[in-house]
Amino acid sequence: MSEVTMDKLVALSKSRGFVFPGSEIYGGMANSWDYGPLGAELKFNVKKEWWKMFVQERLDMVGIDAALIMNPKVWEASGHVATFTDPLVECKECHERYRADQIDLKAACAKCGRKGTFTEPSSFNLMLKTWIGPKEDASAVAYFRPETAQAMFVDFPQVLQTSRKRIPFGIAQIGKAFRNEITPGNFIFRTREFEQMEIEYFIHPSTWETVFEEWLAQMKRWIKHVGIDAAKIHDLEVPAADLAHYSKRTVDLEFEFPFGIKELYGIAYRTDFDLKNHGTHTGKEITYLDPETNEKYTPHVVEPTFGVDRTVLAIMCSAYHEETLTDEKGETDTRVVMRFPKSIAPIKIAVLPLSKKDELSSVARPLAERLAKLWKTEYDETQSIGKRYRRQDEIGTPYCITVDFDTLNDNAVTVRDRDTMKQERIALSELEGYLTKQFN
Ligand code: ATP
Repeated sequence: MSEVTMDKLVALSKSRGFVFPGSEIYGGMANSWDYGPLGAELKFNVKKEWWKMFVQERLDMVGIDAALIMNPKVWEASGHVATFTDPLVECKECHERYRADQIDLKAACAKCGRKGTFTEPSSFNLMLKTWIGPKEDASAVAYFRPETAQAMFVDFPQVLQTSRKRIPFGIAQIGKAFRNEITPGNFIFRTREFEQMEIEYFIHPSTWETVFEEWLAQMKRWIKHVGIDAAKIHDLEVPAADLAHYSKRTVDLEFEFPFGIKELYGIAYRTDFDLKNHGTHTGKEITYLDPETNEKYTPHVVEPTFGVDRTVLAIMCSAYHEETLTDEKGETDTRVVMRFPKSIAPIKIAVLPLSKKDELSSVARPLAERLAKLWKTEYDETQSIGKRYRRQDEIGTPYCITVDFDTLNDNAVTVRDRDTMKQERIALSELEGYLTKQFN
């Protein structure tokens, strides 16, 4: 089994339609990526599983879906206007820009090779600005949200009132966020437009340490559930000096990506920083009255945060396998197989008539339509069956169903398992029951 490299993954993503360069017919746009038919399914499955695990299955969680562009005062209160910055340096010779915290300022410029040419670091605000309405003046300035989190704080009073939840409870959201990153790159790892899945879990301050540990454990459960290689996950306890302005404790969950060990997810104890600030800035008291103890307090918050795109990338890195197969004649061949968990696989079933003959497609096509009511199903009747199996292995389809000439007599099909490559003959009448068992 050989290691996955970014070159292999990017090539597979492009050729099979997971992720390809955005606006490509116009020559593309730097660091803009589009999720193709398979990537869209994969990403949708990630979000669906996340919502199921953290919202649907928990009685202490509710979800929201807030506006991307919020009142700009939100970002003043949250501290983003003042402090959501990265240190920017520029090479005076070639004008290449870098994040000062990501390079050695004494080393040569990676682009032009000159030394000692960097400007002094300046603070660069990462929020993406726009204007609302027809006038492009200061009063119309707004920001695309740099995180989904703030909506959960701003909407806290309304969610509390309408959902009738009691502390401890959490608000979750999945949605786009925007950051004018100085150095985007590494495929979908760092882009200027990305998606987050975030939870703000509201608690009594006395419980934060336990709640933090519980959520950290839940994040690890998720990592396993979606097939991210847990052996490649590292906990980084962020040192006090590096903590974000709102955090008392942060643990980054890092993953061994092919380009290095980098942040996949984070969990932070945000104290009552956000609710307090929104209270101060709006003049409205944002507190919670415990109905049992009558204690009135500003809830504290533990925030587990997950990047959707980094999840997709870590899943793809973990799923990628190359296997050497030897046939009866002793000849070897390499099979690329994406071992996605079944719940995450973009296509669940491929229906493959052995040949393009009408007798077979007249059975196979209606069968594909029948199965598509239950699972995302693909129908493919071109090329040799071997090539079609390989294609399905490469896109991680758990089951291939072959309709052959025997099917016309025995009303049964062959079901091939992606991982074991074992084939089983199953009666058409029992197919849904059989597959339901496999997928559960
Ligand atoms: P980094 O240190 O890599 O810039 P961060 O600490 O700024 O990340 P957070 O503010 O904690 O990131 O954002 C929460 C999550 O959102 C991250 O753990 C990551 O999964 C995702 N994320 C953040 N920035 C990006 C980006 N530019 N592109 C893709 N995903 C991102």
